[in-house]
Amino acid sequence: MAKRIAPGSHVFFNREMAEEIQERLQLSNALQQALRNEELELHFQPQLSLEQDRVLGAEALLRWQPPGQAPIPPGLFIPVAEETSLICEIGDWVLQRACARLQHWREHNSGPVRLSVNISARHFHSPDFVSRMETLLQRFPGCRHRLILEVTEGVILENLDESRQRMARLKELGCLLSIDDFGTGYSSFAYLRELPVDELKLDRAFIRHIDTHPRDRAIIACILQLARQLQLAVVAEGVETEPQRSQLRLLGCPAYQGFLRARPMPEDALMNWLSGQA
Ligand code: C2E
Ligand code: MG
Ligand code: MG
Ligand code: MG
Repeated sequence: MAKRIAPGSHVFFNREMAEEIQERLQLSNALQQALRNEELELHFQPQLSLEQDRVLGAEALLRWQPPGQAPIPPGLFIPVAEETSLICEIGDWVLQRACARLQHWREHNSGPVRLSVNISARHFHSPDFVSRMETLLQRFPGCRHRLILEVTEGVILENLDESRQRMARLKELGCLLSIDDFGTGYSSFAYLRELPVDELKLDRAFIRHIDTHPRDRAIIACILQLARQLQLAVVAEGVETEPQRSQLRLLGCPAYQGFLRARPMPEDALMNWLSGQA
């Protein structure tokens, strides 16, 4: 907390720090309440093929709308939840909700055929994560081979041995595995050799200047080649413009998601959007 603690010096705990801690505590309490009061909701962002613009799946993204207030973005409340086991409760809720929707879509022949869910480190490494996934997939068997768990490189490298075992068991259960924000973390390619990964998600940071920065293009081309050799699917994140999309297509990227085609949206809006695509 204190920037430098030299021996014999005092640790200054200033008002700003105290206020920040207080704010995080309040946010965490409010979030706990929100979970109980059903103020959380899943939105869905379509993922499309670059070749034919076919819908391949969607990513579930958590939304928090406190009544009478502006929505609070996940970039703000997820890190706070991640400080405690609250992220496990929230993560379980997200997984359950996602599986219920995916199973429903399957039974009604509507909606995307695949759904991706973000999994936080603490949740992924919690002792009963795999057995809870097993129970969930027994309850929603239609989600097997259709539910994609997105973890970041940081999650995996936090404990590589454990991650390897967990990922193998998750694969046996019929989960698909994706590396989110690929290229921004520790980017040791070594782990790709030994982990049963199905997909890489190219971080938006590489896409942003793809049409103007040859270096970014070179990096993406490399990652795409690696993915082809390892037979991994690739989804480019954060595609906002037509030039970005056409560059990705030229480079042979198979799939993308981004504001250019669709923002994350509630389920009923997604159904409308999908019927407009047909
Ligand atoms: P992420 O998993 O990398 O999700 C992609 C983020 O990029 C989403 O932000 C999405 O709305 C945004 N995005 C998609 N297309 C575009 C685009 O074209 N331009 C720009 N500027 N942004 C785009 P969102 O929904 O605010 O979520 C932020 C992060 O919060 C997520 O990043 C993920 O790490 C985390 N998050 C969201 N929902 C969950 C959840 O249910 N569980 C966990 N553990 N984390 C979540
Ligand atoms: Mg994600
Ligand atoms: Mg993520
Ligand atoms: Mg991402």
